[in-house]
Amino acid sequence: MHRKISAHYIITDSEVIKNGIITIDKQGKIVDIQSLGNDIKEISGTEFYNGVLVPGFVNAHCHLELSHLKDKISRHTGLEGFISEIVNLRMSSDNEIAKYMQQADREMVKNGIVAVGDIANTSHSIETKMQSGIHYHSFVELFTSNLNITNNVFKAGLDLEQLFKESGLSASVTAHAPYSVNPKLFDLITSHLAKLKSIISIHNQESEAENELYVNGKGALYDMFTSKKIDLASIPITGKSSLISIAANLNPDDNTILVHNTYTKSEDVEFVVDKLNKLYWCFCPNANLYIENRLPDIQLFRSKRQNICIGTDSLASNNRLSVLDELKLISTAFPDIELPELISWASINGAKALNIDKFLGSFEIGKRPGINLIENINLNELKLTNESRVKKLV
Ligand SMILES: [Zn+2]
Repeated sequence: MHRKISAHYIITDSEVIKNGIITIDKQGKIVDIQSLGNDIKEISGTEFYNGVLVPGFVNAHCHLELSHLKDKISRHTGLEGFISEIVNLRMSSDNEIAKYMQQADREMVKNGIVAVGDIANTSHSIETKMQSGIHYHSFVELFTSNLNITNNVFKAGLDLEQLFKESGLSASVTAHAPYSVNPKLFDLITSHLAKLKSIISIHNQESEAENELYVNGKGALYDMFTSKKIDLASIPITGKSSLISIAANLNPDDNTILVHNTYTKSEDVEFVVDKLNKLYWCFCPNANLYIENRLPDIQLFRSKRQNICIGTDSLASNNRLSVLDELKLISTAFPDIELPELISWASINGAKALNIDKFLGSFEIGKRPGINLIENINLNELKLTNESRVKKLV
């Protein structure tokens, strides 16, 4: 039995269809998309909703395994304060961790999220991901500045990547951030990814202190690491920003997801655009406000016609896992960005970044993207409002 679903507008891949009807089969696969325009006739058996239909959301950056840290970390302490607190906090019982991960997974399903690029430092999330309806790509995140243990860190990462894959889950090793990965570890990771034709996801320029570390070898991150006796000698002082300093370590043809970009400047974007062919800038604005109380210069990336995608980050730095809430924040801060563009960031761009756009991310015949209804929208201007809500229909 097919289902026919309609609403005032359908938005997919930056395109707006007025009074369209999407027909899906029992498995949720799209079999037909019709546009009725202004000519609405009553079509029997069609479910009609007030609002806008959009494809299932892709959350391009999350840390499911940190879900138990909700409300545990102080706000606005800067990245160095956040890291300092999280290192001391990550001990909870396995049962507690599992319970909060399952809750977070259910929250994402309810919020219309169908795929997640999820950072994993442990095997904790495997069970939850195996049982979930969400498609997860797990980025097994590696870091060390210590050259002596680099081979062991990498080997443990490969073992964990394998464990995810043996559980039927999509996974690949990745680098945590420029300042936490020494050049040798970077090289091991990117050589491995080149063989897989895979994806790298890196926290990028989340604080100004990260740039300072490379520019002059000083600053708040430097002070925090040295106070914890972490040796940063393997991180080169280049006089350049962190991103420019590590760009040569990245494979030009890997999907490269740069996450946060709160302190990324025009010259940084120009430098990497020339070197990386499949570049995605992932914004997690609620987490940026939580940690640094500052938003990235989103207009800079738009003006350079960059691929933008959206992440929620973890419940350690956000009080909900909702892609729509991230869009609402962006829409309030940058009111001239139109809804179809925001929806493309939240769906097709994330799907492309995670290499799953053949199956989801847009309404196209043959895809199974899921269907979300956004209610309480300003339909005249096609804008999100504070009251906009997402309801998962398929
Ligand atoms: Zn993160």
